[in-house]
Amino acid sequence: MQFAYDDQNIFAKILRGDIPNSTVFENDHALAFKDIAPQAPVHVLVIPKGAYVSLDDFAANASAAEQAGFFAAVAAVCEISGVEEGFRAVANARTHGVQEVPHFHMHIVGGKQLGRMLPA
Ligand code: AMP
Repeated sequence: MQFAYDDQNIFAKILRGDIPNSTVFENDHALAFKDIAPQAPVHVLVIPKGAYVSLDDFAANASAAEQAGFFAAVAAVCEISGVEEGFRAVANARTHGVQEVPHFHMHIVGGKQLGRMLPA
């Protein structure tokens, strides 16, 4: 599958420093920041610094170093966010997945008891 990246998306603007963010963690390959409309006490977005549209784009095309850096950031966010009792990691993709921002991001959501993942 071909992935067309739109560099005008809001997370690309965050990575360029054009708009502010509430950074939680950063390394060479990833940035983690608070979601602007949190759906739980902990709601952090982890994004790669590279231009990837979605999880499947990132998994297929990111280098081993980029993937390692991304998951190191996920681990760091979980470590510092106080989600010892659990959390949910969500990556929405394209239309059926209701992805609003076309730059791959993983939601880390927790800090309270969550409901079931999908409606029955
Ligand atoms: P998704 O539907 O998976 O694409 O989720 C996009 C997420 O980005 C939503 O949870 C939004 O609240 C969040 N969001 C949009 N703009 C910003 C922003 N400027 N800073 C932080 N989070 C944002």
